[in-house]
Amino acid sequence: MLEKIDKRNFKKVWIWYAVAAVIAAVAAAAVLYTVIGTGTAVTHHHDWVELLPLSGRITIASVAAAAGVFGIIYWVIVLECMIKQTRKDGANTMLFGILTLFFNVAAVIGYFIYRSFMIRCPSCGKIAKKGSLYCRSCGAALELNCKNCGSRVLVSDKFCGNCGHEM
Ligand SMILES: [Zn+2]
Ligand SMILES: [Zn+2]
Repeated sequence: MLEKIDKRNFKKVWIWYAVAAVIAAVAAAAVLYTVIGTGTAVTHHHDWVELLPLSGRITIASVAAAAGVFGIIYWVIVLECMIKQTRKDGANTMLFGILTLFFNVAAVIGYFIYRSFMIRCPSCGKIAKKGSLYCRSCGAALELNCKNCGSRVLVSDKFCGNCGHEM
């Protein structure tokens, strides 16, 4: 069930590409109108633009439109990476997807901080809270008792953190 929802979330990314394309087109049209347009209401606030030759205005408009398009493509790629990664980790794709949609890189940093409080299941690769004895996704053991001193060690540990005994 959860996997189905996650798959659907992943497919939704392609809808965001379409939305981003429409926004980019509208933004590009707005920039072109503002910079090249001769409407008095628009150019009133852009007196410096009036001084430029038409070729200069077209250049500025093109650069601004291209920057806008690349910015939106970059934003959506970060969102797609976040959705893929949270799906792989078994984390909350919906929550982190929405956070990334609005905060982008800040949400990615937030996810890295969140991940630092988690451990990865060596069996299925999903993340689990530090200190969990078993994986919630596949039921595999995440911690064992050291055969030498009895303290808890991660299944993935090569040596005991307490006594140095090789696992
Ligand atoms: Zn697992
Ligand atoms: Zn030990």
